[in-house]
Amino acid sequence: MIGILFGIFITFFFRWMVQMLQSMSMHLYNTLTRQIEQFTPNDSNNNVSLYACGLTVYDYTHLGHLRKYTLDDVLVRTLRHAGYKVKFVQNITDVGHLVSDADEGEDKLEKGAKKYNKSVWDIAKEFEEYFFKSMDSMGNLRPDISCRATEHIEAQIALVKKLEEKGFTYKIENDGIYFDTSKLTDYGKLNPQSLGDLKEGERIGVVAGKKNPTDFALWKFERPGENRQMIWSSPWSERGFPGWHIECSAMSMQYLGEQIAIHTGGIDHIPVHHTNEIAQSEAATGKVPFVRYWVHHNHLQVDGEKMSKSLGNFFTIDDVIERGFNPRALRLLFLQGHYRDQMNFTWDSLSAAQKAWERLNRLLQTWGSEQVGLSATGIRFQRTFFTALEDDLKTAQAVATVWVMAKSDLPDGEKLTLFKQFDEILQLGFGAESKVEPSDVVRRLITEREQARNKSDWKLADALREKLAALGHRVVDSK
Ligand SMILES: [Zn+2]
Repeated sequence: MIGILFGIFITFFFRWMVQMLQSMSMHLYNTLTRQIEQFTPNDSNNNVSLYACGLTVYDYTHLGHLRKYTLDDVLVRTLRHAGYKVKFVQNITDVGHLVSDADEGEDKLEKGAKKYNKSVWDIAKEFEEYFFKSMDSMGNLRPDISCRATEHIEAQIALVKKLEEKGFTYKIENDGIYFDTSKLTDYGKLNPQSLGDLKEGERIGVVAGKKNPTDFALWKFERPGENRQMIWSSPWSERGFPGWHIECSAMSMQYLGEQIAIHTGGIDHIPVHHTNEIAQSEAATGKVPFVRYWVHHNHLQVDGEKMSKSLGNFFTIDDVIERGFNPRALRLLFLQGHYRDQMNFTWDSLSAAQKAWERLNRLLQTWGSEQVGLSATGIRFQRTFFTALEDDLKTAQAVATVWVMAKSDLPDGEKLTLFKQFDEILQLGFGAESKVEPSDVVRRLITEREQARNKSDWKLADALREKLAALGHRVVDSK
């Protein structure tokens, strides 16, 4: 009897130890505290609430977005692998994001609609679809909840009303409802360095009627003659729309509660968007902190410059595919850098990543199809790989471990076992081509190749076959 009880005790103790070790290992850099911290979940059941600032859907998803959301995907997958139950919420900004951080200027969505000569609703729908198509190509998981700002207008109005009742707001005639940042003693704590600039209005400019340069719009009124397509009535005006920041507070509270574990975004969101999310959320709920871990991604440059349409270095996933690259080779390229470092994208760097991706695929083909249990050496590789990821997402080190493992004298079956585990995070897409619907570009290449064959242009047909092979599609001709 005592033996059985002791056995049960040992079993539970062992399980508890494993859980503890698993959940003790994750570390993340926190912008709020400016240091790498040990990660703790929401509760003892390992639940983790995660909110990622989503895309403003007024134009095409580009390389910079692809990198940010791919490395968010690595974060979510790493947390889940470590045993956390992640609830992943990501918004779609389809209203209220103005071209300037200064609460003035045109709404990006209305601007996009004019540019493409379509309705603002069509623009939003089209670029949202393009965003998810791009995410799928990169192997990124869909969020558990994807929420559009335009479908949460009531929640945003309710939050502004709550702030009004608590005395944090004021009205600027013919402009909107503003948040009074002087009512908070710790406004700007996410980034105290930039607060001086903000206060002087250098970075964001000053709207007439603002009590403090750092005050920001919660609800905007339509300007005379503006004729917006997206418009709502509110307690403050007949025709208006939400400010950009309020959507993230309202929707994260609705789906994840008043305090959340992790919030991600680009570093450009630190001084204004995220600073204001903190201010309005903590003012409304009185609960501090709104977010425990702020995770920020650094920028992607292209050929050493900021991406922009005017410089001609604005590229999408279709540009990548059209130039004969596999999106998962791009994923590998992103994994070779750290999310907190700036990355400089060049087509040469993608070319090198594509070669590495193909080399790894060839190695994988030599490992057979039978997975076997891990030896002590295999377990060491496993630990090195996941420890790197759990140490503030050191993806480059994790990728390096894949190569050391692949070139080691570990038995093939063990290499296969390890690679399958690693690929749960890496998502390099080897051997997945048969399951994937060919993209528009691939379909077009196949058609072009058929036409070339019909004209007996074998040189062109072969070149197109190679292009398709680089995209992971093997062409087999039949009679
Ligand atoms: Zn946001």
